Amino acid sequence: MDLESIECVSSSDGLDEDEIHQHLHNPQHPSHQHHHDFSSSKPRNNVTNTAGIPGPTAIAPATSVHELLECPVCTNSMYPPIHQCHNGHTLCSTCKTRVHNRCPTCRQELGDIRCLALEKVAESLELPCKYYSLGCPEIFPYYSKLKHESVCNFRPYNCPYAGSECSVVGDIPFLVAHLRDDHKVDMHTGCTFNHRYVKSNPREVENATWMLTVFHCFGQYFCLHFEAFQLGMAPVYMAFLRFMGDENEARNYSYSLEVGANGRKLIWEGTPRSVRDSHRKVRDSHDGLIIQRNMALFFSGGDRKELKLRVTGRIWKEQQNPDAGVCIPNLCS
Ligand SMILES: [Zn+2]
Ligand SMILES: [Zn+2]
Ligand SMILES: [Zn+2]
Ligand SMILES: [Zn+2]
Repeated sequence: MDLESIECVSSSDGLDEDEIHQHLHNPQHPSHQHHHDFSSSKPRNNVTNTAGIPGPTAIAPATSVHELLECPVCTNSMYPPIHQCHNGHTLCSTCKTRVHNRCPTCRQELGDIRCLALEKVAESLELPCKYYSLGCPEIFPYYSKLKHESVCNFRPYNCPYAGSECSVVGDIPFLVAHLRDDHKVDMHTGCTFNHRYVKSNPREVENATWMLTVFHCFGQYFCLHFEAFQLGMAPVYMAFLRFMGDENEARNYSYSLEVGANGRKLIWEGTPRSVRDSHRKVRDSHDGLIIQRNMALFFSGGDRKELKLRVTGRIWKEQQNPDAGVCIPNLCS
């Protein structure tokens, strides 16, 4: 891998000489990963424990039943089919497949007994969303809670850093600090940018070659990704922007990217994708500026031994946010 040889040279608009050399950081885990302690970020009366299960003050009558619905092996909430051994010890269906037919609690043979009573009790429960302490006010029947939580607007964001399996989650301000401090990501203020990507050996295109820069403008944060990968048989470079926030808000912004030299240029204009969409998902949907390697080398000039791409761009806020599919009254009458 040749990660150290790509560098991002950035400068403010038009000031090419004012170059800041920024080496690509090793896309490995930051040495001190940690999870944001949400329960302390917003003081509320209702406490949640680490599993996000409402504490005693959330919904008092359901608490003990809720504890019964926690799998004693993996501590996740149990969903049908809930299993039990001959002695009545319960466990979830995922754990059942893993314990080789032995009850993890009493070591007796497990058999195939379903705990229908507990399943029915669960059906009658109503519980607050797991992200209650982050501001979600919703209360759900036990069995639909999980579905909501997977799309809850208050759920934390994953670290947007690509190229590593970073497991850090948190809200946007926390993740911005995490990107800066733990991943040493380059931070820029302003809605225009002018970057030069330099790579000494452009013949090597690996999936792991990428760059991330964070932009701060309009009171929001945006991730500019630049990377090289193999698209089918063809080595390509790709640049795209992700919005650090939800999809609905991302639609309020647009961005453009331009790359070129020698009287030719490629222009991309698009809507930033939310960081809710994984870096890989955006990349694989080709939602960004894609530059074939031959074109990239042409733009680089010289003897094609070195990749030197100047990517300029701009982020702007749309005047209004016409939701896709929603009629504008004047046009619909
Ligand atoms: Zn389990
Ligand atoms: Zn047992
Ligand atoms: Zn929620
Ligand atoms: Zn991270």
